[in-house]
Amino acid sequence: MPRDLRTLMPPPLQGRICTECGAEVPPCFSSCDELFMSLLTPLGMTNVDLPEGNPLVRLFVDAFAMQHPARSCRSSKSYAAHITGLCCGIEHGGSQAMYSALQRWLHVGLPRPTEPAFRGELTVRYVYDAGDGEEQARRIHEWAEDVWRAYAARHELVRGWVQQALSASAQRGKR
Ligand SMILES: [Zn+2]
Repeated sequence: MPRDLRTLMPPPLQGRICTECGAEVPPCFSSCDELFMSLLTPLGMTNVDLPEGNPLVRLFVDAFAMQHPARSCRSSKSYAAHITGLCCGIEHGGSQAMYSALQRWLHVGLPRPTEPAFRGELTVRYVYDAGDGEEQARRIHEWAEDVWRAYAARHELVRGWVQQALSASAQRGKR
């Protein structure tokens, strides 16, 4: 299936403000995506599609995606991947076993819920403004928790998906 080109285009800025997440993007970046990427590389991450093995990076990627759902979560599968990932990062300490179970469980045909208009007070800019690595890590958690709270209306649905993934994983283990 050809990739939807709209998913590759960064959300437009209005003045310096990202129209999807509301972050004020510093003048040295042309988009919120560039700001995101500038932080991703030092975090040890070069391929956005494979943020495995590092729960902090995974949390960072999932929080960013859920604040930019029109593009990053365009399909129902990508929506489910990022919001269940966010749930795992916040409520299950970024369990690698759970991320793996979710990865195996994700499938097409899931519903694509609508996103809330308000998707959190904090943005990727909050992470960018951190003084050092330790503060940055703390801020990634704060930001991700803020985004997760903004999706409160979806928590029950998402927790149900996580349980389905864990059950499917347990069944697989019995064979
Ligand atoms: Zn943005």
